Amino acid sequence: MHEMALAEGILDIVLSYADKNEAKKVTEISVLVGEMTGVVDESLEFCFTSIAKDTKAEGAKLILKRIPLVARCLECGKETKIERYNFTCPHCGSLRMETISGRELRVESLEAD
Ligand SMILES: [Zn+2]
Repeated sequence: MHEMALAEGILDIVLSYADKNEAKKVTEISVLVGEMTGVVDESLEFCFTSIAKDTKAEGAKLILKRIPLVARCLECGKETKIERYNFTCPHCGSLRMETISGRELRVESLEAD
């Protein structure tokens, strides 16, 4: 399951941060989620909550921030927000688009006590 692997990755980062900073409990985790990852928020939250049980991150609030899919046209250089995976430049019609955001999934910040 896609979300389970991602939740485990997030938990690893969070717990190693908590250990390094000698935090007793992680209270809040902000995660950047690109549209391109196809992650379902509820599913990721559910997975995270279940694997975070009995760790320092148990009960932490998971804040998911969506990053829109944006691509730059290699012909005219304009940037466009991509809807429904339609990689066609609306300015010149080119199909040569380079993704510049929307693939990321990473922990942006977290709060711990
Ligand atoms: Zn273009």
